[in-house]
Amino acid sequence: MTTTLITGSASGIGAATRQALMAAGHHVIGVDLRQADIVGDLSTAEGRQAVIAQALVLCHGKLDGLVLCAGLGGQTQPASLVTSVNYFGAVELLDGLLPALQKGSHPAAVVISSVASAMLPWDKNPLAAACEAHDEATVSAIVMGAGAQGGNLAYAGSKNALTVAVRKRAVAWGQRGVRLNTLAPGATETPLLQAGLEDPRFSEAIKNFVAPLARRAEPSEVASVVAFLMSPAASFVHGAQFYVDGGIDAATRPTQF
Ligand code: NAD
Repeated sequence: MTTTLITGSASGIGAATRQALMAAGHHVIGVDLRQADIVGDLSTAEGRQAVIAQALVLCHGKLDGLVLCAGLGGQTQPASLVTSVNYFGAVELLDGLLPALQKGSHPAAVVISSVASAMLPWDKNPLAAACEAHDEATVSAIVMGAGAQGGNLAYAGSKNALTVAVRKRAVAWGQRGVRLNTLAPGATETPLLQAGLEDPRFSEAIKNFVAPLARRAEPSEVASVVAFLMSPAASFVHGAQFYVDGGIDAATRPTQF
């Protein structure tokens, strides 16, 4: 039996991924703020450590899969919550659960980033240095000091730093035999997107962010690609970012990849 931990398992992409992986025969351990096997808060260092400790008990120290979906949209207040969950809540679980994944069978991890990760490049990302230094207080101070732009900066900056953090782990994780990839969804019909649409500061930009396929994704269309990346069919896919975005990344930056 393949045992896989999924964060953000109670809603949206995480819930759809839970369904897809259970259908593929995984034993899933869900993590979320509510309605989960492990109820925990990934926005604080103590919360993350408690989730890791409970996960290690439930999986008996051996994990075959890890899918990190928990995340918050740019409309969330305070904006520092976004960076705490989207970046630190993901990176600390990756590092904390690597020893358990190393003991797993054909282990793999997928981190849900975003098309936004490519829209604020690393060399222009004001959060880059503090994220790399794992300095959560400084990251929080930067986004809280950005005023009205704090939400956009927190979301795009945290997702850019998250994709970079995964890519920078490709060598070490590869040497340990654990595959690690990111998936970059475009607009997907979930409560997170709905909350953005209902916020006057973000609704126009989200409505105008139309993919070449001229619709938004269903969570199941993202989950099916996660299931592929977690499966033996993707056994040589490592350190990659998969766009599941209806073509919007290609449309916005055709010459950069
Ligand atoms: P969602 O709101 O439906 O699900 C996110 C889940 O994360 C929720 O169940 C929530 O309770 C959980 N979560 C939030 N804060 C948490 C915390 N502190 N501790 C533990 N769990 C917490 O949203 P979604 O759209 O399914 O988002 C999943 C991922 O996909 C996120 O990382 C998001 O940034 C990313 N994403 C979404 C879209 C989109 O358009 N929906 C686009 C690109 C990327």
